[in-house]
Amino acid sequence: MNNIASKTIDPSAPRKAYRKIIMLTFPSEVSGSPMVCNLTRLFDLSVNILRAQITPRRDGFMTVELFGEEEMFHEAISYLKGLGIKISTPEQTIFRDEDSCMQCGVCVAICHTEALSLDKNTRRVVFDMERCATCGQCTRVCPVKAMRIEVDQ
Ligand code: SF4
Ligand code: SF4
Repeated sequence: MNNIASKTIDPSAPRKAYRKIIMLTFPSEVSGSPMVCNLTRLFDLSVNILRAQITPRRDGFMTVELFGEEEMFHEAISYLKGLGIKISTPEQTIFRDEDSCMQCGVCVAICHTEALSLDKNTRRVVFDMERCATCGQCTRVCPVKAMRIEVDQ
C-alpha cells in the first residue's frame, strides 16, 4: 500500500503551464488502481490518455499527456514510480537491428503492445514502431541486443 499525502491546491497561486507526454508501463497488480484519477485529484493535473492497453493479469501500458504545474508533474512522477510504474518518454525510441536479429521470437512473447509480432508466412519477427510504447522490455530480453533504446537528440 502506498502512502499518499493529500495535496492542498491553492486556487489563487500562479499557475505554470507544463505539458509532457509520458509512457507508463505498470505491473498487473496496479492495473485496477485509480492512478489516473489520482493524478488529477492529488496533483491537479489534466490527463489526456493517448493510448492504453490493459489486460487482466498482465503488465499494462498507457501513453498519457499531462498538463499542469511543473512541480506537481514531478511529484506525480514520484507517486507513479512509488507504485512500481516505469516511466519513459517519447524522446526515447526503440531501434531494431535487423541484421543482428536471429528470429528467436523471445521479444514477441514479452511485447504487450504487439509492436513485435511473428509473420505467419515468412516466420520472421516484424517490428511495428507505431505500436511501440518504448517500455524497453524487449531490449532486456533480446539475447543478441538487436533491440536497442536510442535517445533522440
Ligand atoms: S519497447 Fe519493445 S516490448 Fe516495449 S512496446 Fe516497444 S517493441 Fe514492445
Ligand atoms: S529477441 Fe532479439 S534476436 Fe530474438 S527475435 Fe527479438 S529482436 Fe530478434
